[in-house]
Amino acid sequence: MLVKKNIAIIGGGWAGLAAAVELCKNNYKITLFESSPQLGGRARAIKWNNLTLDNGQHLMIGAYQQMLDCLNTIQADTSQLFKQLPHRMLMMDSQNGEVAFDLQLPTYPAPLHLLFGVFNTSSLSLKDKIILLLRFNKLLNTPIKNDISVSEWLNTVKLPKSYRLNLLEPVCLAALTTHPQQASAKAFQSVLQQTFNAPADFTDLLIPTTDLGKVFPSLAESYILQHGGEIKTRCKVQKLLHDKTHIHSLQIDNDILNFDHIILATPAGVSAKLLQDIPACSHISEQINKLTFEPVSTLYIQFKDPVSLPYPMLGMLNGLSEWVFERATSGHNDILAVVISAQGNHLKLSQETLTNTIYNELSNVIKDLPELINSKLIIEKHAAFQCHPDVDKNRPGIDTNLKNLKICGDYVYIEENNQPGLPSTLEGALRSGVKCAQSTIKD
Ligand SMILES: Cc1cc2nc3c(=O)[nH]c(=O)nc-3n(C[C@H](O)[C@H](O)[C@H](O)COP(=O)(O)OP(=O)(O)OC[C@H]3O[C@@H](n4cnc5c(N)ncnc54)[C@H](O)[C@@H]3O)c2cc1C
Repeated sequence: MLVKKNIAIIGGGWAGLAAAVELCKNNYKITLFESSPQLGGRARAIKWNNLTLDNGQHLMIGAYQQMLDCLNTIQADTSQLFKQLPHRMLMMDSQNGEVAFDLQLPTYPAPLHLLFGVFNTSSLSLKDKIILLLRFNKLLNTPIKNDISVSEWLNTVKLPKSYRLNLLEPVCLAALTTHPQQASAKAFQSVLQQTFNAPADFTDLLIPTTDLGKVFPSLAESYILQHGGEIKTRCKVQKLLHDKTHIHSLQIDNDILNFDHIILATPAGVSAKLLQDIPACSHISEQINKLTFEPVSTLYIQFKDPVSLPYPMLGMLNGLSEWVFERATSGHNDILAVVISAQGNHLKLSQETLTNTIYNELSNVIKDLPELINSKLIIEKHAAFQCHPDVDKNRPGIDTNLKNLKICGDYVYIEENNQPGLPSTLEGALRSGVKCAQSTIKD
């Protein structure tokens, strides 16, 4: 009888969990080690007073096909997990409360959804609508030879100013967690292509109806346990013990544990440290160390009374707030989550000043905003790698020079034919986890 190998997965974020689910699905025996008390990594639930919120507000979209596949594997009911909304970017001026741009896409097949959406917007003149459709289509579909910044790329085509400033640039910052002046045009073009040159529902917004821990990590955990896998939380892998060709064991506190295969699903910085003393992998460590990281700040504001927005997710312009989400969708109708991506002046402010500034911006946009009673600021310093031009050169692939060691995580490059990789996203993490598991099975 063929004995299936014993596989260790280090890291219980979405990438490690996706790898574990894929291996369990194929009847492999896995043990997953997670250093913290809970699963989910950067996309996990947190406690605030007696409430359950997320480590940071997350948004998923219909283009997250790997996520939907993984949820399908673990028999999750996605219609219950998400509020699926047709794509609408309602961008508000946070200083005067006026609508700066409003783009709603109907559910027609692509590219008709974009065509009708642009024609129906009241944010552009007829002339600008025609210019936009012609030029945006060209921008979207003309290959970029040498990677440049998104700002330089947008300069190559004269788009209506309002569309660029009030929509495309904020979307770039949100999607790539990188300011357009520093962001990779190739990566942004690829994200736009995967979203817009695709079935209409790929542009839908999927807003979780529960905390992130319940969207994937806890369901994945049940699936793994039901399939004979083991999950060990509060277990920090300190060292990968190796010879010239293999990792033969893991050091966890005073224990040395042997495994046939290892999947390293830790964040980039941890992976670099674990690999730096292994001669066959030190080049990977050096490569990862060239990556730089961007923060994401989430400010939860709790109000005295329930609060609602004109749309469950609003874009905010010309202030500190960038995106505001109703937490009513996930059960807290008195809380809003305000997200600010990447470096910026907001990081120099105290929580009190930031909260007051954002409260004022919100009160410009929302009529009769209730009184603020509490706030919580979470700044994830290493939320995402900076997605700058040619960043993929600094991203390691799944395989290493050691036969039984593979890597996954949102920072791992998994594309073929030099296609641009996804930025730091849940979808990128899940795709890399599944691919890494499949590659382990193949080996
Ligand atoms: C505030 C914020 C907002 C975001 N918003 C979005 C969004 O709207 N949409 C989107 O798609 N993406 C978003 N992201 C990005 C997304 O959360 C990440 O891309 C994804 O969670 C990365 O998953 P991962 O498994 O690759 O890494 P991680 O989540 O970092 O998982 C790695 C795991 O390894 C564990 N670990 C570390 N060291 C060890 C060790 N020595 N031994 C054992 N375990 C260890 C960690 O505790 C962690 O659980 C956001 C991220 C943040 C922080």
